[in-house]
Amino acid sequence: MKNLSFIAFYLCRWHTVRVLPSLYDCTENLKNTMWTDTHTHFDADIFAKTRQHDWQKAQALGVSAQFMMGVVPCHFAKIEKLAEEFTGTFFALGIHPMYVMPMNLPQAITQLKQAIERNVHNPRFLGIGEIGLDGFVDTVDWHKQVDFFTAQLKLARDYHLPVFMHIRKAQDAILKYCKRFQIQRGIAHAFNGSEQQAGRYIEQGFKLGFGGAFTFTRAKNLRRLAKTLPLACIVLETDCPDMPPAWAYRQTNYSYHLPRIAEQLANLRGITPHALAKQLQQNSKVLLQ
Ligand SMILES: [Zn+2]
Repeated sequence: MKNLSFIAFYLCRWHTVRVLPSLYDCTENLKNTMWTDTHTHFDADIFAKTRQHDWQKAQALGVSAQFMMGVVPCHFAKIEKLAEEFTGTFFALGIHPMYVMPMNLPQAITQLKQAIERNVHNPRFLGIGEIGLDGFVDTVDWHKQVDFFTAQLKLARDYHLPVFMHIRKAQDAILKYCKRFQIQRGIAHAFNGSEQQAGRYIEQGFKLGFGGAFTFTRAKNLRRLAKTLPLACIVLETDCPDMPPAWAYRQTNYSYHLPRIAEQLANLRGITPHALAKQLQQNSKVLLQ
């Protein structure tokens, strides 16, 4: 009997440690809410062995959809296949500014154009992304980034597609090119600009992506923006496996962290997670049309 209770104790402990935390990440009042993770790299090799489990866990916690981003043409076919395989998975195709250095522009753009052509009637295909400019890294030539970005904006304009943009330390330049090519639909991912810049993006028609970064209490500017910007202009994202929230600092990030990120946003804004989810569904739906 003593042995049995000993075993029961350990079984219970195992259950608590290995299973229950995933469900307890999310509080009772988050049940029956549905979230969209508007920026993931679900195709990343780091998820190879756990992908099925990771997405099931995210779905169990209320993440009903994800927008998976393309970054290099050699992953486009894999992304298309994953979107077919995993329910609630939508995708964008594009060439990320951090990866342009070894690429040949005409060749890469031709590959992107062919991928757009074969997906133009695919209901899971969202648009062009992840594209943009990065003013932070000095290892990627700025002019080459601009050439790739503008070539992809042209495709977005020609095919009437929204764009999903990487804008690190390049907020003003990005907006200048979007205006030039009359791009008025998409997401400025991981937004971290000023209130004035936020206003200009919103005016142009973009949604602003917020994720793990604002969960750090030291991120004062981001927290202020997340709290005060019009809710109709905000979308939530993880950028998994990158940009983990405060409670997973320096760890791999997953879509299943999104409900807790959402809960923090609801707390910041003083609204219920349910009310937040309702508005955010409207916001991300615009990108699906
Ligand atoms: Zn990304």
